[in-house]
Amino acid sequence: MDKRVRITITGIVQGVGFRPHVYRLAVSGNLRGFVLNTSKGVLIEVEGPAAEDFPKTILSNRPPLSEIKSLTSETLPPAGYTGFEVRLSEPVAEEFSLISPDIATCPDCLLEMQDGADRRYLYPFINCTDCGPRYSIVQGVPYDRLLTTMHAFKMCPRCAAEYDDPSDRRFHAQPVACPKCGPIVEFKALGVGKEVHLEGHARVTGDDAVIEAVKALKAGHIIALKGLGGFQLACDATNDAAVDRLRRRKRKNQKPFAVMAASISVVRKYCEASQAEEDLIKSRARPIVLLKKRQSALSPGVSPGNSYVGMMLPYTPLHHLLFTHPSFDRSSLPDALVMTSGNIAEEPIVIDNKEAVEKLSGLADSFLLHNRDIFMRVDDSVARVVSGVPRLVRRARGYVPAPMDLGREMPEILACGGELKNTLCITKGRYAIMSQHIGDLTNYEAMSFFEETLRNLKATFKADPKIIAHDMHPDYLSTRFAREYGGDSPCTLVPVQHHHAHIASCMAESGYDGKVIGVAFDGTGYGMDGNIWGSEFMIADFDGFERYAHLDYTALPGGDKAVREPWRQALSCLVKAFGKSGAEVFKRVKKGARPDKDINLLMTMVERKVNSPYSCGMGRLFDAVSSLIGLRDVITFEGEAAIALEMAAGDSRDSGTYPFGFTAGRPAVIGTNPLFISITEDIIKGVSKGEVARKFHNTVARMVVTLCKDIREKTGLGTVALSGGVFQNPLLFGMVEVGLGSSGFRVLTHSKVPANDACISLGQAAVSAAGAAR
Ligand code: ZN
Ligand code: ZN
Ligand code: FE
Repeated sequence: MDKRVRITITGIVQGVGFRPHVYRLAVSGNLRGFVLNTSKGVLIEVEGPAAEDFPKTILSNRPPLSEIKSLTSETLPPAGYTGFEVRLSEPVAEEFSLISPDIATCPDCLLEMQDGADRRYLYPFINCTDCGPRYSIVQGVPYDRLLTTMHAFKMCPRCAAEYDDPSDRRFHAQPVACPKCGPIVEFKALGVGKEVHLEGHARVTGDDAVIEAVKALKAGHIIALKGLGGFQLACDATNDAAVDRLRRRKRKNQKPFAVMAASISVVRKYCEASQAEEDLIKSRARPIVLLKKRQSALSPGVSPGNSYVGMMLPYTPLHHLLFTHPSFDRSSLPDALVMTSGNIAEEPIVIDNKEAVEKLSGLADSFLLHNRDIFMRVDDSVARVVSGVPRLVRRARGYVPAPMDLGREMPEILACGGELKNTLCITKGRYAIMSQHIGDLTNYEAMSFFEETLRNLKATFKADPKIIAHDMHPDYLSTRFAREYGGDSPCTLVPVQHHHAHIASCMAESGYDGKVIGVAFDGTGYGMDGNIWGSEFMIADFDGFERYAHLDYTALPGGDKAVREPWRQALSCLVKAFGKSGAEVFKRVKKGARPDKDINLLMTMVERKVNSPYSCGMGRLFDAVSSLIGLRDVITFEGEAAIALEMAAGDSRDSGTYPFGFTAGRPAVIGTNPLFISITEDIIKGVSKGEVARKFHNTVARMVVTLCKDIREKTGLGTVALSGGVFQNPLLFGMVEVGLGSSGFRVLTHSKVPANDACISLGQAAVSAAGAAR
């Protein structure tokens, strides 16, 4: 007698072609029964002679985009099924399923789009079960067309037939569409600075709109185009005037722009790329990958003063058309486009047509819009390969909301993250679900984006957390949000120290649960002694930490202003090293870079301790040295001085180091005065900037290894976890990783989650989960 087997699968199994795949496997195995999406995952029942082998068949033969987290099966009495069918979804309360991230256009769809005989020839919204929008259009679960922004489009008979045909590669592809029934693009030329209205323009739509947009790009215009997770501003990356205009309008600083290249061979033309880097840039997530620039025709304004540039490949059909539209001779088109987030200043990326026209009119000369709504804004992800491993710098499109399995059941927790580069994290079962990059919470729009994302993740994952983790900084907006979150129904608040969260985050993503030597280097984090921390050596696990060593404190004259003006930090460090004569040393070394009256004013501030908080941030040390050797006295974006120092160090192969010392107490204090005295001597001797920068990097690397060995001697701990934005410096990171490794340490590092403050929410979640388990 035939057996009936019921199989329950969880993981990323919706929106990735799972059901048609199961259908084909079942039919080819002569099995009867059904497959069904539930809020929990996928439910399958099969009946037939080989029913009991079916779980194995699925496991060894799953669709490429799927990720199976669990599979359970039970044998039941036969139900007498007559065929195999794909059943409509049924929602299950209290359970949740995992939504797939957005996926770049697949090769099959690309071929169809370029095939003149295909009904989707040149159609900018072509997609299938293997590709297309997912997270950005999902409004609810289960993942079904009615709960996506595609519900506004009624399928034409031919699309509906594909959607319903289990043997078709668009079977139940929720965003399926064609030129007859699906979304359309629209082009609007505005003229710079002119008032813009959405209605009342001559409409250029469909293929003509794409052609107009390509013409505009060719002519050196800036266009705002609606991408997958938000608007992008695009212009010819080889046109200096266009790039400079975009920079003037958008940035007012020297922060690099990302570039989209027509193909991998164009990437190779402009940049050096290893095999690992090529694999990363071609991956389905299609992140921006930081690559070493070649001498090339790329406009110098793209990433000024930086030897790297962020490159990506087209990831929507519309992007592909901008490079390959057959109405143009390919060689006459730009093969690389600046492709930067469509937003003003530090605000979140714009997703709505009307909002785009209102906000981006001052930035773009024309608009390439479409009428498929973006539900969740999700910016491009940024990654780089360091020491052979792909590491995320910004985790968003293509990666979110893929969950991280923390290996143990947790209560529902909301972790609110830090303040800059904010992300939030909720836990559900064994999973931590981190949000996309939200950004700098100091502005109102970002805070609304935070709330919008939280609402969406709570609904999608059916979570209602009552444990709320937050940073110890009392004034972070994320902290204030945490305090007010529960309203009348009080929640348990769990404050987590910033650098403890960094280390816990690195441990969590590495799946390590034990005691480590944590090394957290960043610019700023609220310290428990009222000072600013950021060069932390700690003994830590999820339950707590002991501060073991840190750099000596230096006054930051002017507070935040000293962060924007690293020369203030340089002077302050010299005053610490040389006392009152620090000002004279500064003048001698900096040769009149700052007027005497500025210097005198600052001396007074430091002496009288006016608005001069104490910081031991490693980022600040990089800033001070960068200014001292004449690289950046004032910065226009976060991290600029430290990046300039890293670039300069790349010019030298010197293996020398500067002296430093540390005290015996606990926490030990690492003295930087010998370092500043030696650097000053080098500058006066005429040692090159590159050499000083390199020796400084060597010194910090040696500092990490020396201190870790000292801690190992005292504690017996042999595992080191590295976290904090300073470790995104690949030169320093590489030296530290090799140095620790060759000294016999096991080294835990970030790769799936950025080392910067984007990782804080995960660390907060891991620490509060441990607390809740006690
Ligand atoms: Zn496809
Ligand atoms: Zn259609
Ligand atoms: Fe930090």
